[in-house]
Amino acid sequence: MIIGLTGGIASGKSTVARAFEALGAPWVDADDVAREVVEPGEPALAEIAERFGAEVLNSNGSLDRRALREIVFKDESERRWLESVTHPRIRERLIAHLERLAAGGAPYVLLVSPLLFESGQYQMVDRALVIDVPEALQIKRTAARDDVDDAQARAIIAAQMPRAERLARADDVLDNGGSEAEMRRQVAELDWQYRQLATRKNESDPV
Ligand code: ADP
Repeated sequence: MIIGLTGGIASGKSTVARAFEALGAPWVDADDVAREVVEPGEPALAEIAERFGAEVLNSNGSLDRRALREIVFKDESERRWLESVTHPRIRERLIAHLERLAAGGAPYVLLVSPLLFESGQYQMVDRALVIDVPEALQIKRTAARDDVDDAQARAIIAAQMPRAERLARADDVLDNGGSEAEMRRQVAELDWQYRQLATRKNESDPV
């Protein structure tokens, strides 16, 4: 069973994922995998370099993300082309990672993805868990962690999926507006539910 874990910037995705891991449920971060598929030597990077030229490469041959971002930000069709090159490879590798974790005996596994709904990755998961915080606290935590001011934090949040829409798509919600202890209490409760659900799923869907 795969649980998709998502939320806005600084909602606490990484912190919550670590709390699940402490209880025995491992996770894969979709952002890490998105970076992996464009590392030097990867076919996706070769395709990108062929299309956009040396302009999108650093002198050591790695991807110049900022340059690529500028190109696709300005041109919708190039953005779609880029997604057609990267998304299937990200998906393939995510599945491989998740299967490897599941084979290690985990009761269920987590896919941590800031863009779970936007990227279509929600189709890979059995349930979507949204980490929710009030916006004022989200701004405070973003500013404290990322060395940005409140206005910059607000602009980043405004560019993401609205909180209400994310909540409307959630199967489960973790309220991370309280202390870390309160967060861990909710993780323990969800962990218990997910173990029950995973057992039921394995019984009805034996491999
Ligand atoms: P995300 O992965 O969603 O961007 P993080 O897990 O990095 O978010 O959390 C953002 C910041 O908020 C971090 O500095 C983290 O330590 C802090 N944080 C997360 N959850 C809590 C909590 N329940 N109480 C206090 N601080 C928290």
